[in-house]
Amino acid sequence: RAKEKGKNNYVLYDSEIGHRYFEKLTFEQDLRHAIQLNHLELYYQPQVSLCSQMIIGLEALVRWNHPKLGLILPGDIIPLAEEMGMATLLGDFVLQQACQQLSSWKARGLPLVKIAVNLSPQDFLSHSIVEKVHQALTQSNIEPHYLEIEITESMAMDVKHAISVMEELNQLGVQIAMDDFGKGYSSLNYLKNFPIHRLKIDRSFIHELMVDQNDAKIINAIIHLAHILNLEVIAEGVETKEQAAFLYDLKCNEAQGYYFGKPMPLYDIEELLFGNKRI
Ligand code: C2E
Ligand code: MG
Ligand code: MG
Ligand code: MG
Repeated sequence: RAKEKGKNNYVLYDSEIGHRYFEKLTFEQDLRHAIQLNHLELYYQPQVSLCSQMIIGLEALVRWNHPKLGLILPGDIIPLAEEMGMATLLGDFVLQQACQQLSSWKARGLPLVKIAVNLSPQDFLSHSIVEKVHQALTQSNIEPHYLEIEITESMAMDVKHAISVMEELNQLGVQIAMDDFGKGYSSLNYLKNFPIHRLKIDRSFIHELMVDQNDAKIINAIIHLAHILNLEVIAEGVETKEQAAFLYDLKCNEAQGYYFGKPMPLYDIEELLFGNKRI
């Protein structure tokens, strides 16, 4: 919810402290420093199999522990970073961090689960993205299928290019998920052309699931479509037991949402994944 104020000033609204602002330049410097000083942190949200209730993956979601402003959520970071042409800095951080985390679990002999990272259009469409993913994988020495890249329809500004990037990523062996599916336009066209592995049903459909017949029908259709196209399908924003049960009945394989676990810091996700087996 970063709002523009004049041309060079941005206001970040903070529900507790009223509002604060960054100058564009300050934001840029702050973000660079934040990366250097380790003020950016990945939170992890579990993704579960609705059949086994086991954790089958994690989504990495960036947080900024700002020394003055407290915890800043992606909604207040990403759009600004995009606008300032800094999204690739952020993308690099997230990719490397996720791969290093996997590598550290591997070194400790812990069982690995897939980590999904979000890339913004700037990251994804930049000419070096495939090389960066490749580097992150080699440096951390983890198998590529443990990394999943989440894209959104906004990547399709340049459809041909987006498809060629996806094909190269496929060749590396990483997984690709289409995030927020159903939220935008032309979804079916992308579904037909994009070489992806997984559909993430947008949480707006899940939200009304129990009250709105149409949402239930649309979700049902998306799940069938995914199965027919041999895609995995995961429901986002599952907040209640009833929603989870309903989705299971509709043969949705996987789910993610507050009901199963909120995005949490490393310490907590390790406890959830590995119990007390801390080294
Ligand atoms: P997303 O990729 O669709 O991520 C899911 C968002 O939904 C997360 O918000 C998560 O906290 C929230 N969520 C999960 N379960 C529930 C639920 O049961 N109910 C509700 N109401 N919300 C739920 P978050 O962490 O604030 O991230 C927002 C968006 O920011 C993400 O949406 C993603 O598009 C973007 N984002 C997050 N981290 C990164 C990043 O590292 N890089 C980039 N480029 N974008 C990111
Ligand atoms: Mg996502
Ligand atoms: Mg999403
Ligand atoms: Mg999103």
